[in-house]
Amino acid sequence: MPEKIKNFINGQWVDATGGKTFESRNPADYRDVIGIVPDSDEKDVNAAVKAARAAYPIWSAIPAPKRGEILYRAAEILAKRKQELGECVTREMGKVIAEGLGDVQEAIDISYYMAGEGRRLSGETVPSELANKDAKSVRVPIGVFGLITPWNFPIAIPSWKITPALIAGNTVVFKPAEETPVCATRFVEILEEAGLLPGVVNLVHGFGETAGEPMVRHPGVDAVAFTGSNEVGSRLAGICGTLQKHFMMETGGKNPIIIMDDADLNLAVEGALWGGFGTTGQRCTAASRLIVHQRIYDQFVKAFSKRAEDLVMGNGLDQRVQMGPVVSFAQQEKVLSYIEIGKREGAKLILGGKLYRRGKAALGTFIEPTIFVDVKPSMRIAKEEIFGPVVSILRVKNLHEAIKVANDVSFGLSAAIYSQNVNHTAIAERDLDVGLIYINASTIGAEVQLPFGGTKRTGLGPRDAGGRGGALDFYTKWKVIYRDFSGTLQKAQIDN
Ligand code: NAD
Repeated sequence: MPEKIKNFINGQWVDATGGKTFESRNPADYRDVIGIVPDSDEKDVNAAVKAARAAYPIWSAIPAPKRGEILYRAAEILAKRKQELGECVTREMGKVIAEGLGDVQEAIDISYYMAGEGRRLSGETVPSELANKDAKSVRVPIGVFGLITPWNFPIAIPSWKITPALIAGNTVVFKPAEETPVCATRFVEILEEAGLLPGVVNLVHGFGETAGEPMVRHPGVDAVAFTGSNEVGSRLAGICGTLQKHFMMETGGKNPIIIMDDADLNLAVEGALWGGFGTTGQRCTAASRLIVHQRIYDQFVKAFSKRAEDLVMGNGLDQRVQMGPVVSFAQQEKVLSYIEIGKREGAKLILGGKLYRRGKAALGTFIEPTIFVDVKPSMRIAKEEIFGPVVSILRVKNLHEAIKVANDVSFGLSAAIYSQNVNHTAIAERDLDVGLIYINASTIGAEVQLPFGGTKRTGLGPRDAGGRGGALDFYTKWKVIYRDFSGTLQKAQIDN
């Protein structure tokens, strides 16, 4: 029997007021209905925002270290339930179990990290230009945050947004992806169990247009954090700009790995395989472009395609499986249409390109690992985010051309270089226009203690994760306090 999922509003688990529902299904086997989920609308959003507003003065008045203790408890519960939650991620989203567990581990990491930030929400004290006067800045919360997340990291991404919002003293209305509502519910249950007061985190399930957008537009929502597609992100940024709300939009990527002729080739092949086909290519940091030096091009293509061909596909709950399905029929269609575009553009398909329907895989949304070679930088498959198991390989003459090709897209999230030459890696480090650079490692592997996000169309506003310079700069605002204890009227800029 599928589980009946509820919204969580003001500490109560409730159905959508309109009574409508939708299903969450397992992409590895569409017969498996995991949850029956509330299809919420504006009325549910209104109730959630009302609860978050009422809870705000209470929650923000609790000392930050005490708020941190609740996040610490949440981290402990997550760690205890890691296996079960990892299986939930795999069943609902399709990534293989090792990655499902990794998804949960990110939530554990950031919950511990943000718990610690409760004792480090520091500002600055600086000298005043006048005697008997001091000056400081302090971080204060902003109010009610509307949080919208995608399906590809169903527990990790919600945790990246909810934990910094909470430690800073804000309250939250959370609209998770419609593809992964059960995982989102598990995470909110854990926050409840950890001791959150009613109304501090409210969960509203549903679709973007009917639940997400009313939340963004709601006058009771002060700020919006979104991760998802570029199209939706830029639309929501427009709305937030007009309504003068703070916003953070983390969107797509077209991430390159540069492989130089002096690279450790085996290492580069492994990194490219992990970057290109890990999470079935459905990571914002997926390595969808391999930019390979002409001197080792043929050798690399041969070794890489052999490894890709051998990837074991299937239901990710099976430990032997190395690549799961894409998340939905809609995603499957989108990826297949890009494969057709690549063929029409004249790129050479050397592996895959079709649905994978062997045995039980016919019950899910599988696509073969797909490789195009002789891809030109101007082709759409080299420029647009596909978000599936499709890798484009481009040939370059030297490092200069490699960096030019790497930067020649409208995204700028993650990039990697494989080279044994320190000068090459230093130049790449300086000249790649992205938010995350990996040297002799794949485009995947961010850690929570540093800011996560990108340049150009990948990111608008501050970054996820990290503390100062990262998430805390988004989830707090500055207040500056001058204290004059001279007992006389002192005038800055005038008395000295
Ligand atoms: P999506 O934009 O379709 O959906 C993301 C979320 O937005 C969902 O919760 C959806 O319901 C909601 N939404 C859709 N339309 C909306 C609207 N009009 N108003 C309000 N909310 C709306 O994206 P997706 O397919 O779920 O996720 C894949 C995308 O996410 C990829 O482009 C990927 O690169 C990106 N992503 C980016 C990062 C990053 O940190 N940069 C991380 C992970 C995923």
